Amino acid sequence: MMFDHARRRMVEDQIAARGVRDARVLRAMASVPRHEFVEEALQHRAYSDCSLPIGYGQTISHPLTVGLMTEALELTGGERVLEIGTGSGYQTAVLAALCANVFTVERLAPLAMRTRKILDQQGLYNVALQIGDGTIGWKAEAPFDAIVVTAGGPELPRPLLSQLRHGGRLVVPVGDGESQSLVRLRIGASGIEEEVIADCRFVKLLGRFGFAQ
Ligand code: SAH
Repeated sequence: MMFDHARRRMVEDQIAARGVRDARVLRAMASVPRHEFVEEALQHRAYSDCSLPIGYGQTISHPLTVGLMTEALELTGGERVLEIGTGSGYQTAVLAALCANVFTVERLAPLAMRTRKILDQQGLYNVALQIGDGTIGWKAEAPFDAIVVTAGGPELPRPLLSQLRHGGRLVVPVGDGESQSLVRLRIGASGIEEEVIADCRFVKLLGRFGFAQ
């Protein structure tokens, strides 16, 4: 296929070469067709080292960011994962290849409906998508083994921590509207462990426990 070579190069040059080691993550990113998650006019740039516009003022995350965030979740295959900020659905599709069930929340209804169609076309039937404010989590489906937030908020949305099971990982960008730190929290035996994984730059997390809308 015409994008296969570009995708392999993306994984080798942008993801593996910059420190992502988890073989399952590398394999998933080598198989998920990233170009299917952007509009046709941008498909030739789908494997470039950048984020891209997806409409509605939002972006598909940078490939390396997706690699780092996914690796930080430490998925082994059986997990239930909550994603806040579905956007293009690309990160959702990578997660769907690596765990049992993905629950994803997007606040923009037209974007969510467009993405649902793409996820269905890709045969990703282990993805449940909800339209709404993800900063309050998805209580009915909690607890989750891992939670990932793909938009940057001023602080950790508090409800998310209470929806994480013991031993679970929560990966979230926290900072001002300009730049954030990608933080991993883990509920361990001795309480909550926190670790900064990288500096990053995400679109804003809006909502009750995010920036004011
Ligand atoms: N992982 C996505 C990132 C898209 S950008 C991708 O790679 O395509 C972040 C997304 O978060 C946007 O679509 C934005 O609308 C959404 N978002 C922002 N605040 C939100 C909230 N409170 N709840 C759910 N989605 C939110």
